[in-house]
Amino acid sequence: MSKGHLVVPKAADSEALPLPVLSFNKGEGPRLLITAGCHGNELEGPIVARRLLDWLPRAQECGRVIIVPVLNPPALKAWSRNSPVDGLNLNRVFPGRADGSISERIADAVSRVLCQGSTQCLICTALDRGGNLLQQARRILSRMLIS
Ligand SMILES: [Zn+2]
Repeated sequence: MSKGHLVVPKAADSEALPLPVLSFNKGEGPRLLITAGCHGNELEGPIVARRLLDWLPRAQECGRVIIVPVLNPPALKAWSRNSPVDGLNLNRVFPGRADGSISERIADAVSRVLCQGSTQCLICTALDRGGNLLQQARRILSRMLIS
């Protein structure tokens, strides 16, 4: 596993915002982007992302998995659905704008840098009633990355 950051550039409304990015490489194959923590009041996604970090090293057989456990740190810190900085719902501003507000810049950086070149994107959102996000995520990952 390698760790890095996707840095969302600073602007008038915010300092530069580094988003932790974790990458699992197992050679040739599909490239899967997994994001969580789009809404700051939904912790299921980040928890599932954390569990996938433990599970992937022994389960992944090919390809590349990129995980962004928390897409929206300002909203998570504020425990709010929308960003406390610009009031926007990050999930509604994709693909974003490079010269926009913080939520639009997060969307722009993720769209340009991470979504480009990914075979598929898996977005961990809130649980549906009766759903099991971890099982769903493992099922999708298994189809893609495990023969
Ligand atoms: Zn959500």
